[in-house]
Amino acid sequence: MQYNFLIVGAGLSGCVLAERIATQLNKTVLLIDKRDHIGGNCYDKPDAAGILVHQYGPHWFHTNDKDIFSYLSAFTDWHLHEHKVKTSVENMLLPIPINMDTINQLYNMKLQTPEQVQQFYDSVRVKEIVHPQNAEEMIISQVGYDLYNKFYKNYTIKQWDVHPKRLNASITARIPVRTNQDDRYFTDTYQGIPKNGYTEMFRKMINHKNITVALQTDFNTLSANFNQVIYTGPIDSFFQHQFGALPYRSLHFEHKTINQEFYQECQQINYPNDFAYTRIVEWKHATGQQHPQTSITMEYPCKWEQGKEPFYAVQTKESGLLYNKYRKEADKLTSVKFCGRLADFKYYNMDQVIARAFTFFKKELYSPYIRKNSVIFQHFL
Ligand code: FAD
Ligand code: UDP
Repeated sequence: MQYNFLIVGAGLSGCVLAERIATQLNKTVLLIDKRDHIGGNCYDKPDAAGILVHQYGPHWFHTNDKDIFSYLSAFTDWHLHEHKVKTSVENMLLPIPINMDTINQLYNMKLQTPEQVQQFYDSVRVKEIVHPQNAEEMIISQVGYDLYNKFYKNYTIKQWDVHPKRLNASITARIPVRTNQDDRYFTDTYQGIPKNGYTEMFRKMINHKNITVALQTDFNTLSANFNQVIYTGPIDSFFQHQFGALPYRSLHFEHKTINQEFYQECQQINYPNDFAYTRIVEWKHATGQQHPQTSITMEYPCKWEQGKEPFYAVQTKESGLLYNKYRKEADKLTSVKFCGRLADFKYYNMDQVIARAFTFFKKELYSPYIRKNSVIFQHFL
């Protein structure tokens, strides 16, 4: 069988692009993944007790983009839920992002207005840093060293195995600093979890006569030739690491079911200073599932090596330069195009992946297709 497109990777990028090509261009797609399931890192499934667990760490959906939310809503209903996270510091469970309550509880203060909280930050922050150049400066310029040391420094070192001074500022900028009592992890308008899970949502997305899925199929072992390939895996792996391997961070997950209804007070607790894990997630808080038992996952960052998943691109000045070399090679290819978190070597959230796939589809696939077809149309006349 001949296909118009080969898509490498049945994660979020691959599934969205397959759906767009099948439904908007009416072209056929072979969608492959080397893993034995669709959904990439968003993959979830019920565990032995029947509790829905995200297999590769917590995936809290959030976006301000109505179009993205509507797009996904064609394939799923939602358990709408505002994500909340606490962090374990000095034997207290405190709100993160740091807010007014975090400061009052940690320092036994009685700040009451956002202005008072800002005054407090102003009294401790490193004011000389106006344009933060790295992940440490991003935080100390807002809240000073004590809060940085207690909430960020060790978490970041555990997570990345790189000192925050060497990491891009955008990494810790993901977590805002608040002066009010808002204890949501994100402030986006649309937040939640697909009602029947991500995997079910992906299944619906790619359930189309033009899409054929082949799992446990590694691109590197394919012998057939394809005229149009969209590659969503790690870009350096596509080029056989010819300029050297890009740095990634991997994770090890310990999933457990416990014989009690709930284990902890919220969906996620971060552990910046104690233990080898960075966070414990309790799924039922986020999914809303009713069950007499509960399941939790402990997340241990670890070195990325062959056989492990490259979950995070480690973004430093050096890795940015190395990525640019691969990008230049990628831009020379006409039959292969790159799109996705690992293909772009970016720290995309799910909504950013969808936005990127939409733009990619419009620019690289839909516009050329329309141009080509209007030529055919003129011929016809
Ligand atoms: P991937 O999901 O990595 O999919 C790429 C696919 O390509 C994989 O399935 C892989 O097996 C396959 N592949 C690679 N190489 C080959 C090959 N040679 N042959 C065949 N197949 C191949 N986002 C949020 O919005 N909220 C969150 O709370 C959130 N939490 C996260 C937590 C963790 C631990 C991680 C790692 C990510 C999180 N994300 C979150 C980000 C989200 O997972 C990604 O944005 C999204 O899944 C990326 O989709 P993708 O398709 O680009 O990449
Ligand atoms: N971070 C931290 N302490 C926290 C939470 C986050 O230091 O309690 C830093 C850390 O460097 C982390 C980054 O902020 O990698 C981004 O955090 P996020 O929760 O967005 O990470 P993700 O869910 O993508 O793993």
